[in-house]
Amino acid sequence: MATATFSSTSPKYLHFHSTSFWRRRFSISCAAVTPTFLASSDRGIYNFAAGPATLPESVLLKAQSELYNYRGSGMSIMEMSHRGKEFDAVIKKAESDLRSLLSISDDFAVLFLQGGATTQFSAVPLNLCMPEDSADYIVTGSWSVRALKEAQKFCKPNVIWSGKSEKYTRICSFDEIPQTLDAKYLHICGNETVQGVEFKDYPNPMNKSSILVADMSSNFCSKPVDISKFGVIYAGAQKNVGPSGVTIVIIRRDLLGHAQPITPVMLDYKAHADADSLYNTPPCFAIYICSLVFECLLHQGGLEAMAKKNEKKASVLYDAIDASGEFYVSHVEKSVRSLMNVPFTLQKSELEKKFIEEAAKEGMVQLKGHLSVGGVRASIYNAMPLAGVEKLVAFMKDFQARHP
Ligand code: PMP
Repeated sequence: MATATFSSTSPKYLHFHSTSFWRRRFSISCAAVTPTFLASSDRGIYNFAAGPATLPESVLLKAQSELYNYRGSGMSIMEMSHRGKEFDAVIKKAESDLRSLLSISDDFAVLFLQGGATTQFSAVPLNLCMPEDSADYIVTGSWSVRALKEAQKFCKPNVIWSGKSEKYTRICSFDEIPQTLDAKYLHICGNETVQGVEFKDYPNPMNKSSILVADMSSNFCSKPVDISKFGVIYAGAQKNVGPSGVTIVIIRRDLLGHAQPITPVMLDYKAHADADSLYNTPPCFAIYICSLVFECLLHQGGLEAMAKKNEKKASVLYDAIDASGEFYVSHVEKSVRSLMNVPFTLQKSELEKKFIEEAAKEGMVQLKGHLSVGGVRASIYNAMPLAGVEKLVAFMKDFQARHP
């Protein structure tokens, strides 16, 4: 029997005292906990944060029920060896569920790493290039700029297209860009979290021995992706698939083992692939949460089903913006609008602060645009239910009516 004191005013949490209560209610499969993908609605708010972002309520409740005594082991997942049988089962299931979700073949290794996607900005050139090698970068927003800056330390990157002069509101057509003949890879950011610009299809590297590399941090597992088009995909977990602290790398196996000699072992993909992501102590709890999220995504019908839900949510929000007679303005070209991060401004910019404050009072939080661009940003990742977007849209209409 658990007798931990867990101070909360919510009656739901007072039941934590009784392990049998939780067993009865929650220590069963994720689908049985909640047949639908509940999110923040039960907690009284909708969280539109760009990341760390809202997680499925069913995942949080299941993690809560298993926190104190993981599946009868007498330990929490945070207290046990990463080489023990319980965690071994967790990481193996996480990997196999992710492989099912994205149809990842055995030609690719799946790694669970630390250091955030920011660490991958340097790991990518260190693993794929020698210092004198060139690599191509398509720069579509703040995160591709950061990736490029880091690459400048470890190889010779070329910016083959930048959306900077148009304030990162569009993506080039792929035949319009001259690629570098001997580039080792072509880097893109699949979804720019700050500007809300998303690739809907992908460029092919011109040179046959070059590969496509994508930062998919903010649209990972939001839709099906043909993994075979890529050499490397990397993604921080804290938007669509888990908490911060774990970064997922999917890499074609033949690319392993060519790192620059100066590469720190923690950035060497081969060291992690050879050790099945257990070269050193991994972020065990974060990987465990990811495994629960992957399970939930599969229960919901996988990424085809998620893509449909995400398209629906995004269209409800963009339609409301477009129908507002420019009271609300989206600056991104329609064909590349992100389904995950919807930044917009108010034509009367002096009202933006009030908009964000009033929305928060009504339970819609973290709507402030990124520091660098301002405005409003609604991040509507997998775990944001349609009801959250509908509530936001109703608020937007009401706010507009009150500020003619
Ligand atoms: N790439 C993208 C697209 C991001 O959205 C972010 C984080 N917001 C990063 C990279 C950096 O991730 P981290 O903070 O985990 O290093």
